[in-house]
Amino acid sequence: MAEWEAVIGLEVHAHLKTRTKMFCRCPLEYGAAENTSTCPVCLAHPGALPVPNRKAIEQTLRLGLALGCDIAEHSVFARKNYFYPDLPKGYQISQYEAPLCGKGALDVPGGTRVGITRAHLEEDAAKTVHAGGATGRSVGADYSLVDFNRGGTPLLEIVTEPDLHGADDADRFLRLLRQTIVELGISDAEMEKGTLRADVNVSVRERGETGFRPRWELKNMNSFTFIRRGIEAAIREQVAAYERGETLEQSTYDYDPDTDRLTVHRSKEEADDYRYFPEPDLVPVEPPPELVERLRGVIGELPAARIRRLEAEVGFDLANELVATGNEGKAEQLAAEGVEWRTAANVAMNQPNFLAENAPALAKILQANVTRDALHAAFAASATSVISADEYLGQTAVSDESALGPAIEAVIAASPQQVEAYRGGKEGVLGFLVGQVMKETRGTADPKVVNRLLREKLRQS
Ligand SMILES: [Zn+2]
Repeated sequence: MAEWEAVIGLEVHAHLKTRTKMFCRCPLEYGAAENTSTCPVCLAHPGALPVPNRKAIEQTLRLGLALGCDIAEHSVFARKNYFYPDLPKGYQISQYEAPLCGKGALDVPGGTRVGITRAHLEEDAAKTVHAGGATGRSVGADYSLVDFNRGGTPLLEIVTEPDLHGADDADRFLRLLRQTIVELGISDAEMEKGTLRADVNVSVRERGETGFRPRWELKNMNSFTFIRRGIEAAIREQVAAYERGETLEQSTYDYDPDTDRLTVHRSKEEADDYRYFPEPDLVPVEPPPELVERLRGVIGELPAARIRRLEAEVGFDLANELVATGNEGKAEQLAAEGVEWRTAANVAMNQPNFLAENAPALAKILQANVTRDALHAAFAASATSVISADEYLGQTAVSDESALGPAIEAVIAASPQQVEAYRGGKEGVLGFLVGQVMKETRGTADPKVVNRLLREKLRQS
């Protein structure tokens, strides 16, 4: 039986974080009442003229610079013509032949180099809400309503080369791209809020085959989980079809997470159907070189570079996780205080609530050889009801033995089973007991001293 290889490319859409819309001054506010943020421009009243949002253009350029894209010296907005109720003008202002950002690449650490075909700027369509009947679905709804607040939102589209070869690959790339977008501060890129969406193009071919077979496009995917499952379903169904001797054609599919199946949405319009032509109401955008250089100068270290740097310290998986969760700064602070790197990374991941300024205090505790269990127990105890981990770390720990004695004795008296287990050789139980003392002392004890005193007491009695 043939060995199959998946070929995947993505078109990622992110709402840019601007105060106003792309071509008018309507404010952008998530959760505003329906149809309250509209004007003659975004409702396409006759004679209304678009004015481009400078900030959105700069944000697109910054993304392009971060992905190493060729920045256009001359870029053009174009009309993409199609009819749909959520598009009052009957066309979307987008970019076609001359996007702001051309070819670039994103190196996914531990993975592949993914080519960026282009990144361009466009406006989003309005939002259609299906109501009545089978609520939330276009098929079977009694009626549909349109909320024009979203119409005209600046939308960044990033198109990749078909360089991804599986659901894992795509997931890793997309998360890294999202992290990059978020750190550039150009979008919240939150799938659940619809500020990040992706169209996923999937085809398969036999290993060694050159050229591409017809692709299936999964439109408007808005969850990492569904993207992964949608890709897996497309690969599975295409391979099964080819192995049955069928031929496939290029189509758009909907992924239904309930059934884990794909259903044909429509066969693909050709790009020609959109009758693109340059937008006559807007002049070309020609970013001045000094602007491009200024924007290049303010891009800090990007997530991909940071993962590569941390990989040397903690390995790829942990480095990736640290960066994806935004905990690498705290890990670095702990490491800078002399904490062993892997411990620093694990603590930053598991105790994300500690404040940066508490790193020196936390580092002291970690270096005191308190067991990890004890630390967790201490945090758990202090986080539930008595005191927060942050407060705990901010306090001067009580290390006075006479002050701690009664609490330690009380805990030993109240935990006969654990005491017996410890004496029977279960060292790990000590962590529980330390945690209990921390709880008893309202999180004020020095765990290092508690640890030592407990060991002594358990040996004696
Ligand atoms: Zn408007």
